[in-house]
Amino acid sequence: MAKSSLRLAENVEGNFFVDRTCIDCSTCNWLAPESFSGAASFSFVQRQPSSPAAIRQAQKALISCPVGAIGTEQKTSIDNELRFPDLISENVFHCGYHSESSFGATSYFIQREAGNVMVDSPRFAGALVKQIEQMGGLDIMFLTHRDDIADHQKFADHFGCERFIHVEDAVSSARSVEHKIAGGEPFEIDDELLVLPVPGHTRGSACLLYRESFLFTGDHLAWNIDAQNLRAFRTACWYDWSIQTISMTTLQNYTFEWVLPGHGRRINLPTAEMRKSLEKCIKWMGKTGSGTAIEQVS
Ligand code: SF4
Repeated sequence: MAKSSLRLAENVEGNFFVDRTCIDCSTCNWLAPESFSGAASFSFVQRQPSSPAAIRQAQKALISCPVGAIGTEQKTSIDNELRFPDLISENVFHCGYHSESSFGATSYFIQREAGNVMVDSPRFAGALVKQIEQMGGLDIMFLTHRDDIADHQKFADHFGCERFIHVEDAVSSARSVEHKIAGGEPFEIDDELLVLPVPGHTRGSACLLYRESFLFTGDHLAWNIDAQNLRAFRTACWYDWSIQTISMTTLQNYTFEWVLPGHGRRINLPTAEMRKSLEKCIKWMGKTGSGTAIEQVS
C-alpha cells in the first residue's frame, strides 16, 4: 500500500502518486503512459489522469504495480469493470498483479477450448485466481525462463496445471516443474502451442508461439519505444549476447503479429512489418559486441 508520506516530489500535484518504494520496473510507464513516466531510477505521475479511460489505465497500473508503490490521496473506488485478466486481443489477456520476485514482469493468460494457458507467473492474488476460476481454470503454464516464475508453484498447486520450462532454467523453485524441455529444437506442447528455445538472455530462455500469431518472448525480445523497433536487452543479458543474436535469427523462420514480452512493451504489427523490424533488430545486435553483460536488473 503506497504511503502519502513517502510521495515522491517528482509527482505532479493531484490524487495519484508514486511513493519511494518504487523499484523502477516500468510497468506503469507502458500500461498508463498518459499518466506515468520514468526518471533515472524510479517512476512518477507526470500528468494526473482526468478522462475515464486514463483513470482506468492508472488504476490498472495501481493494481499491477509489484510493490504497491502507486497510491491515491483520496479514497478512490476501483472501476467495477476493471478486472484482470484484462483482454489484449482475441483470447489473449494480460494477467496484471505483477510480482516483485519477477522484477515486475508481465504474465499472460490464453483462454482456449483446448485448455487455458498462463505464460510466466503473476502474484497469486485472490481476485486474479477467482477470475481465472470463472474463466475455466488453468491447464498449462509455460515459463519463458527462470527469472519470471514468481508464484508458479502456488498456481500449480491450486489449479493442478502442467508446467513447462527449458531444462537449463529449471533451477531453484523451477526444479519442481513437470515438463523440462531439452535441446535447441522447437517443441510442440499441442498443435497451437510451439516452444522455441532462444538461449542468450539465460541459457534456458524460450519463446512460446501461439497459433502463428502471438509470440511470448520473456526477456528475449521487446518493443523499444525510443528505437521504434524490436530490441533485445543488451544490458540485461545474463548468459551470452552472441548466442542470443543467433537465437534471434531463428525467429525469422516463423510468422507472428504480436510480440508479448515479460519486460518492456508489447507490439502488434502486420507480419511483413514485424519481419522487417526483427531484421533490423538482428543487424543492431550484430553491431553491439559479444559476450555477457551484467549491469542491470533481470
Ligand atoms: S509499476 Fe510500481 S514499481 Fe513499477 S515503475 Fe511503476 S510505480 Fe515503480
